[in-house]
Amino acid sequence: MSLLKTDKDQINLRQLDIRSGLVADLNSMSGSTAKNLKLTTQIQYLKGVGPKLAVLFERRGVRTIKDLLEYFPRAFEDRRAARKIASLNIGDVVSLKAQLFKVNSIPMGKSHRRIYDVILRDDSGVIHCKYFRVPFKGYFERFQPFAEVRVTGKVIEYRGKKEFHHPDIQAVIAEQNEELQDAVIPIYPEIENLSSAKIHKLISLALEEVKDEEWLEVLPAKLLENLDLPTFRQALYRLHHPVTENLPDLNSFKDPAQIRFIFEEFFWLELYLAAKKSGLKKEKSRPLSKSTRLVPGLLKALPFRLTGAQTQAFAEIEADLQLPHPMNRLVQGDVGSGKTLVCFLAALQAIENQFQVALMAPTEILAEQHFTTAHKLLSPLGVRVELLTGSSKTAERSVLLQKLKIGEIDLLIGTHALIEDSVEFFKIGLVIIDEQHRFGVEQRASLKKNQSPHTLVMTATPIPRTLALTVYGDLDVSVIDELPPGRTPIQTRSIFETKRPAAIQFMADQVAKGRQAYIIYPLVEESEKIDLKNAVHEFEKLKNQFSQIAFGLLHGKMKPPEKDKVMQEFRKGEIQVLVSTTVIEVGVDVPNATVMIIEHAERFGLSQLHQLRGRVGRGSQKSSCILISGYAVGEDSKKRLEIMEQTSDGFKIAEADLEIRGPGEFLGVRQSGLPGFKLANLIRDVKVLQLARQSAFAILQEDPSLSEPAHQGLRDSLLRQRGPTALAGIA
Ligand code: ADP
Ligand code: MG
Repeated sequence: MSLLKTDKDQINLRQLDIRSGLVADLNSMSGSTAKNLKLTTQIQYLKGVGPKLAVLFERRGVRTIKDLLEYFPRAFEDRRAARKIASLNIGDVVSLKAQLFKVNSIPMGKSHRRIYDVILRDDSGVIHCKYFRVPFKGYFERFQPFAEVRVTGKVIEYRGKKEFHHPDIQAVIAEQNEELQDAVIPIYPEIENLSSAKIHKLISLALEEVKDEEWLEVLPAKLLENLDLPTFRQALYRLHHPVTENLPDLNSFKDPAQIRFIFEEFFWLELYLAAKKSGLKKEKSRPLSKSTRLVPGLLKALPFRLTGAQTQAFAEIEADLQLPHPMNRLVQGDVGSGKTLVCFLAALQAIENQFQVALMAPTEILAEQHFTTAHKLLSPLGVRVELLTGSSKTAERSVLLQKLKIGEIDLLIGTHALIEDSVEFFKIGLVIIDEQHRFGVEQRASLKKNQSPHTLVMTATPIPRTLALTVYGDLDVSVIDELPPGRTPIQTRSIFETKRPAAIQFMADQVAKGRQAYIIYPLVEESEKIDLKNAVHEFEKLKNQFSQIAFGLLHGKMKPPEKDKVMQEFRKGEIQVLVSTTVIEVGVDVPNATVMIIEHAERFGLSQLHQLRGRVGRGSQKSSCILISGYAVGEDSKKRLEIMEQTSDGFKIAEADLEIRGPGEFLGVRQSGLPGFKLANLIRDVKVLQLARQSAFAILQEDPSLSEPAHQGLRDSLLRQRGPTALAGIA
């Protein structure tokens, strides 16, 4: 029998199947395809998986047998003890049968989003299950009225009551009863119309049918042994066929089998980053010796002394710059911690060594502010500073580019404009990038102008250490964790709209005392027009209401020169209150501004709120931040606003933000470059992450080109996952 023909026939049958919409599983009837299963085989060749199922799995990212085997249980159910609602304890991960009594959908504030509140009951009591988003379309419509369901999830406390948030709910059907003899049942993340028991069956089948030689272990045996972790195959068996004794660990993701997979997920990322980093260390660049003239000159001219943290950060940079390979360092520091100054010191070291420096900022406003500061601080030392932005005039621009090319500019400050090919440096020695997470990795690369300069990245988004290790794992990190002395803490209050008049009056009083203020409006893409109208409308209203106050308006739709003018006037105090959208989010420094009012605060992310708040509290006067939100805000928003009231520590805020939003959104999904982890959780599994990082770096240190036979698997896997450039630096 020709295999090819069979395959073709099956495909036709499958198409038929899709068209007729039958659930009938033709593939399982043919029964002949499951032989010789490889890990890379597409799952529709597994007995029991038809085209319809394949499509559903595909949506969950499950395409191959390996993907299926790595579709890990999210919980493990102990069927020995039947649980009742009344007996649940907070923190329990449980699975129990109950009756689905009611589904309420509650609108969330003014947005179109809804919370679903599912009420379950049994003969002992009632429990609510909350969903802040619907797991999949038709999730709640699947159930008959008063259906008997099995709910699986973690019991949490909410306003003094026990609840489930986002548990799995499945109708109890006969199929599941077959499994009752097993004491522990793995519970898989739900897939439409597919019971956990069915998923379990398919995975069990795959486990049996995969060819023996497919089970090659890619992690070095020595590594697994040292860490006391099971092999790939052992770990899969342990997870998909759990036993009672392992139950407590399994449900808290501490079982060695889970640790193995969590470790592995982190390990690949860290090995990749380690390879990248050691590649960078091989690149050559000109060492820049310690500055003896310009740096001491600037330090002497400053009206204050560096903080301990600034001194430490600069010492690290100073040492890096003296090495014959490019520095790649991230300077992390809370808003107002004085990063700019540290980067100027680095610039001076390069300039004293006859090299040019580029400083790139994410917005024109910021580029200009840096230019103003640089001009004030560095020009007296004889440093030639220029500004290049998208709105530089053509004639000026060509003169400037000419001067740059022949080395008559020492420090060029600008925006994205600096990346353009027409911008040619005579001899670039250092690239400084402000507010990193707005620039992608590629932009970082194109700023280097093929000259292998040193790179310094500054970010005011304090990234929790764990994330810094993953995303910026190829960079060295200096942390400025100390604010300059003499700052008075910002007082933060979160209020509802009804109290806005009092807030505005407070602002007016402060202005009367000579202070300045910001009023910020959100600008959310989907409703950008309405948002903008709101800001403009409010600006007009305030102007009429307080004719004695000079208001200014700033938003992203204004032309750069207009924006500029407004900013200049605000800086000079000619504008007293700046009504603005979030264009002022980062870096703007006007010490006399002491009041920050944020409208619709519930619509901002935590880190963004923190950035905005950082615009005040920069001088010696006491500053206030008032967060105004609508009455009906969601749970997440409420939590964010509370955190803002409680702390002004950027690192604490970043961690809370990460916890609330997850790493993808926290960093901006597209730019994060973070892989979607299947099992690993950056917060829960920090220890494993550190272990993975140490292991990956140690292996590369021992075997820098991964050429030992024991590392062949690593090498192959890395190439498969990341492509040929993954090893470019070390091969
Ligand atoms: P960041 O960029 O980290 O938000 P900046 O570099 O803009 O912070 O510094 C904020 C303000 O603090 C600036 O006005 C700067 O001149 C001032 N500053 C920086 N370092 C010190 C210091 N060591 N002591 C006092 N003021 C400082
Ligand atoms: Mg700054």
